[in-house]
Formats: sequence, structure tokens, C-alpha cells
Amino acid sequence: MKWIDCTAHALHEALLKKEVSSKELVTAFFERIASVDKKTFSYLTQLKEAAFSQADQADQQIAKDAAGPLTGIPMALKDNLCAEGVQTSCASKILAGFVSPYDATVVSRLREAGAIFLGKTNLDEFAMGSSNENSAFDATRNPWDLDRVPGGSSGGSAAAVAASEAVFALGSDTGGSIRQPAAFCGVVGLKPTYGRVSRYGLVAFASSLDQIGPLTHDVTDAAIVLNAISGDDPMDSTCLDLPVPDFTASMPSKMEGIRLGIPKEYFIEGIDAEVGAAVEKAIDAYRKLGAEIKEISLPHTDYAVAAYYILATAEASSNLARYDGVRYGHRTTAPKDLLEMYMQSRSEGFGPEVKRRIMIGTHVLSSGYYDAYYKKGQQVRTLIKQDFDEAFQSVDCILTPTAPSAAFKAGEKTNDPLQMYLSDIFTISVNLAGLPALSMPCGFTAEGLPIGLHLITKHFDEERLLQVAYAFEQCHDFHQRRPQLG
Ligand code: GLN
Repeated sequence: MKWIDCTAHALHEALLKKEVSSKELVTAFFERIASVDKKTFSYLTQLKEAAFSQADQADQQIAKDAAGPLTGIPMALKDNLCAEGVQTSCASKILAGFVSPYDATVVSRLREAGAIFLGKTNLDEFAMGSSNENSAFDATRNPWDLDRVPGGSSGGSAAAVAASEAVFALGSDTGGSIRQPAAFCGVVGLKPTYGRVSRYGLVAFASSLDQIGPLTHDVTDAAIVLNAISGDDPMDSTCLDLPVPDFTASMPSKMEGIRLGIPKEYFIEGIDAEVGAAVEKAIDAYRKLGAEIKEISLPHTDYAVAAYYILATAEASSNLARYDGVRYGHRTTAPKDLLEMYMQSRSEGFGPEVKRRIMIGTHVLSSGYYDAYYKKGQQVRTLIKQDFDEAFQSVDCILTPTAPSAAFKAGEKTNDPLQMYLSDIFTISVNLAGLPALSMPCGFTAEGLPIGLHLITKHFDEERLLQVAYAFEQCHDFHQRRPQLG
């Protein structure tokens, strides 16, 4: 295996044994980016100079035997995460020219851990979308088939890892934006419990749903990155002051005594047959490993997408009110007065999907409709959370497909927002309930597209989540495959 195809834990061993230096890794990754990023469009910004200087420091740490698991490991940041002195665009024209004055907490934690920032990755504008086609810049393509989407909104992060343009990446997940692109690109994507990872410095989309998490080649890497980014932060009052266990400890290969729940509402008509078959096979694999498989019910599943598109748009309309052309970002030229300056700047700066969401969100919050939409949405959210609480009385982990299909063709759903919204049908409830969940590759379609398996556990039970994922990974090789990009 080439260095660029390796996991963080394999590279860590190689760095410690001095088989390779961080500088050599960074060189190899920028060469890779130069050769394939014109096909995948994973990156919006590359940070060459800073990356080489970080690599020098990492190599010094390694020489002093002071390296941690991420020291010298090259990675990528979704471009809605602030990194000091670097442009943060959220793939939107409205943030044109905006340079972050500070690091997001996850960024400063990775910096301290010695990780190297190769660049910022593409996304759907303000993380709104499931295909990356809502980026105001070139849309990212799926490394397994360049005619297809990588998923979204963390499509650039997922594609960068899948295409070996980064060892790992950070993404954000509001309704599935880490897990669905992870499924489409054949990588591991982990959305931590709401409150496990600080959101400080993540540009807000829907603050009660947003969480930051890793996209990696395997489960062990997801655990290593989660170790580095988790934990209390005084800068985010929703981040909980709970002990952070070592997520890499006690990875089992047996599943005896583990109860896996299969929600009957998730195995519906409309799931692609190959996806259904791969997930059935995964269930069998768990049975063979000794897990007890139980059918469960999450009766309010049908209402999740509707509730999400009320609550997420409501929060987005409020969060995005700050982009007014006054202090930073795009400002229209020659407005006739202040009101026109606001209106024109926002009309020119936001793309169509973001405008649609601001309008829906403003409508559902308006005084005449608040009770009918926003309040109802919150009530449904509570019911969905209660469904999960009830299910976790009798199972340890819930298993579903990550998405109803494998990656779809670019352009296939762009004119049909509802079809696009439905690609998150299996991931959205998890955000509404604030739970941790992970997507991992569990097979490939006949056309060679990855299929994602979705695992969900109780609040703050990422340990169990990673253990269940690891047990499956140990007896399969899906995570070792890499797309052929030339
Ligand atoms: N695809 C969903 C949406 O468009 C989820 C996005 C996300 O998780 N950021 O809102």
C-alpha cells in the first residue's frame, strides 16, 4: 500500500519507526491533490505553506519521541470550520473574502495534537444539501464514479479521504451530512452525540442539530480522531462536561451479549435492492459474531423528514440573518440606501437552496404559523426521541442502511428538492434525537459503488458504537478498497 492510502494509525507506526517523515507525507499528499483534485474537486483551499511548516514541527516532535497518534498526520477541514488566518467560505459567495480570526475548538485541538491541515474541503452551501451540487463553486464528484455525486454536505471531506487526498477529514452533520457522504464514498463517518464535541467555530446551520465529526478510512481512525476532538469547552455551552473515555480501548471482535435492533420502519419499499441485500448480509454477519438480532419499532419515523425541514430551516433563517453585507463578506456595489444594501447583498450572495431554506424558516417562525409548524415540529421531535429511548430499553445498538441508495448521478435530483431531501430519510432522526451514529462501508453495488451501514447507539455511548462497528470491520475488507483514479 502507498503511504497516501494508509490509515492514520498505520502512518503513526511508520512515522515512529522513521520509515517516513511527516514532510514526505505532506509532499505525497500535495502531489496526489495536484493529480486528482481536478477530477474530484474535493478542496476549495489548499494550505501548502502552513502545512509544510506544521510538518517540520511534527518531525521535530517525532525526533524527540514526543509524538501523539495524530502528530504529523495530514488531514482536511470542511470549509465551514474556522481556522485562524484562513478563508472560511461555507462554499457561499456571501462569505467572499472572509478570513477567520480564530480557530474552531476542534481545529485548535487537532493543531495541538500535531495534525497537519492540508486544506479546506468543498460542501453544499452552508452545509445545506445532500449532493454537493449546492456549492457555489465546482461541485465535488464521487471518486468511485466521477459522474456521480459524493453525497453531502460534507462531500468534499468524504471524497478527499476516499480519493487518498487526505488521511482523514472533519465534517459536520445536521441531518446526515457526515454519514451520507461517508456511505456514498465508502469511508467511515461518525456523528458524535450532540454535546460531545464543541461546535465553537463551526459556522452554524441549525444549532440544535449540528455536530462535528470525523471521516476516516477505518473505525480505529474514527476513534483516534474522536479522542482528540471530544470534551468540554467553555466556548460552547451545549458541550457537556463528561469524562471522555479512550475510544480506541477495548475494540472487541466478538459480539456475544450485544443486542442489535432492526427498526421495521427502515426497511421500506423504495430502498434500492442492492442496498437492502448488503444490509441483510451485514445483519447475518453480526448474527454469526454472536449478536442477538431483534426487530424493533420507531413508530414516528415517517414524520422525521418533515419535522427536520421545519426545525432546521427555522434555525437556519435565524442563524443566517447575520450575513448582511455590513461587517464581512459580500456587499453589493452602489445600493441606493441601507435597506437595498441588505437586500441586494443577500440576494447576490446566497444560492437558491439557501434562499429556499431562509424563506421556509421565516415562514414557519412567523407569528401566524408558529404553532402550526415550529411548535408541532418540536413536539414531533420529542416523540422521535422517545421512540429511541424506548428502543434502547431492549437493544444496545440500532442498525439500518445509511441511505436508501448508493451514490446517484450528478444532476439526477437537482430539480427535485423533495427527492433530494429524502436521501437523508435514515439519518435525520438521529440528529433530532441528538444521538451518536456511524456509517461504514458494508458492500458494493454491481457497478462498484460503496454501500453504507448505519449504526446508532444511546447518548454518549460512542464506545459501544465504535465497538460494534469494529467487530464488523474486522471480518470484512471493504474499508481497504480504494477507487481507481489513475
Ligand atoms: N442533507 C441535509 C440537509 O440538506 C442534511 C445536511 C447536513 O447534515 N448538514 O439539510
